[in-house]
Amino acid sequence: MPVPDAGRPREECGVFAIYNYHGPGTAAHLAYHGLLALQHRGQESAGMAFEGPGGMACRKGMGLVSRLFPREMLGQIKAPAVLGHVRYSTTGLSCINNAQPLVARPARGGGIALAHNGNLSNNGRLRQAMLEQGHIFHTTSDTETMLSYLFRHHRRGLSGAVREAMAAIRGAYAAVAMDGETMVAFRDPHGFRPLVMGRIGEATVFASETCALDAVGASFDREVEPGEIILVEQGRVNSSVYVNRPAEAFCIFEFIYFARPDSNFKGKNVHLVRKAIGSRLARLLAGNVDMVIPSPDSGVSAAMGLAEASGLPLEWAVHRNPYLGRTFIEPTPGERELAAGLKYNTVSGLLKGKKVAVVDDSLVRGTTARKLTAMLKNAGAAQVHFYIAAPPYIYPCYYGVDIPLAADLAAAGTDLERLAGEVGADSIVFASLEDLYAAVGDTNTGFCTACFTGSYPAGKP
Ligand code: SF4
Repeated sequence: MPVPDAGRPREECGVFAIYNYHGPGTAAHLAYHGLLALQHRGQESAGMAFEGPGGMACRKGMGLVSRLFPREMLGQIKAPAVLGHVRYSTTGLSCINNAQPLVARPARGGGIALAHNGNLSNNGRLRQAMLEQGHIFHTTSDTETMLSYLFRHHRRGLSGAVREAMAAIRGAYAAVAMDGETMVAFRDPHGFRPLVMGRIGEATVFASETCALDAVGASFDREVEPGEIILVEQGRVNSSVYVNRPAEAFCIFEFIYFARPDSNFKGKNVHLVRKAIGSRLARLLAGNVDMVIPSPDSGVSAAMGLAEASGLPLEWAVHRNPYLGRTFIEPTPGERELAAGLKYNTVSGLLKGKKVAVVDDSLVRGTTARKLTAMLKNAGAAQVHFYIAAPPYIYPCYYGVDIPLAADLAAAGTDLERLAGEVGADSIVFASLEDLYAAVGDTNTGFCTACFTGSYPAGKP
C-alpha cells in the first residue's frame, strides 16, 4: 500500500477482533498479526482491549503496531477475546486520548470496549445534547459519543445497547464492541465502511478487510451486512438486522484506493477491480505512447490493466523509497527539491525522448501528479500523459474519509486542459463512473460515489 502522502486522501481506521480463541498462541498474538495486516488503514495510533483480572483493560499508544506491542507485552495478555484498532483521525485530534479502542468502566468493575471505523455525521448535535445533560467527555472523538450510548443502555445487554445507539447515530460506522461476556459487530444501515467475519477453530474473527483474516489463518465466513448486528456469546453467533435499512452505499473508494489489493469485498478482489479499471482506460490512450508507468505504488494494479489491454510495455520507471513512511517529515520549502529526490527517483535511461502514460489511482490535490511530471520531464521524457483510474474528485466526504474541502481539490471547478497545465502534464484522462461500475461488475446501485457526484446517501452534516 502507498505510504501516506500529503496529496492523497487518508485511510480512516482498521478494526480487528477475535472472540473465544484458545490457542495455539494467544488471541493477543493473532490480534497483533491482524492489526499489522490492517496497518495501511491507520498509522497514527493502535490499541488492544481485553478483559483483565480487574475488568476491561486496554493497551494503546501513538505509532505503529510493531513498535507498540513488543512480544513480552503480548505474552502478558491471556484473554481469549481481544479487540484491536489502528487509527487515522478523521474526527478528533491525533492524540493518545482519542486512540482506540475506547473503554468505559463502571465503578463496580467490568466495562465495555469499542473500536470504530467511520464518521458519525450527527456527532456534533448528539454531543451537545449530552453535554447539556451533564455528560463529561474525555476525548474529542465521535467514537466516545457512540460508547456513551452503549454504556447508558448496557443494562439491555450489549446487543440491545447497540440497537439503542443505532437508533440515535447517523453516518458511517463499522464497529465492534465487547464486554466481559459478549462481542457485538455492527455496521451502519448504508454499509459505508467494510467489516467481514471469519473463523479460526472455535473462534470468531471480525476485521475491516479479508487480508487480516488471511494474516491470522482464519477462513472467510461472510461480510457483516449493512444494518446488521452480530452478537457472539459463548460460542453462539446470532444475527439481527436494524429495521430502517435504506439502499446500500458501500464506499467505492475502498476499491479504488483504501483497501489492500489482496482484500476482497462483495465477492470481488480489489487488485482485479483496479486492473479492470486500468484496462478500460486503454480505449482513451493518446496516440504513440511508448510505455505505461505506474505511480508508485498506488497506480500499480491499474497500470498493469492498461498495459495488458494496450499491449504497451509496463516499466517501473519511478522508484519510491519504501522506508521513509510516516517518519518522513515534510521539509521546509528550501529543502523540498532535495526531499523529492529522497522519496522518488526515476530510471533515467528509460525515459529519454519517450512519450509516457503514467497511471495513478486518483487525483486529489494534484501534489503527486505535479511531482512525478516534473521528475519524468527532468529525466528526459518528451511527453507525460496522466491516466487516473477514478473520476475527478470534486466533492468532500462526510463519511469518514479525509478528502480535502472543495477548494483544495485539484479537479474542482476546472477543465481537463487547465488541470493538465497545472500539474505540468501534456494531458489528463479520468475513468468514468461507468468504468468503475463495469470493473466491480455491478450496476450503479449499492455504492456511495458522493465525492464524484455530490449525491450524499446519508445527507450532509
Ligand atoms: S464520499 Fe467518497 S470517500 Fe466518502 S464514503 Fe462516499 S465514496 Fe467513499
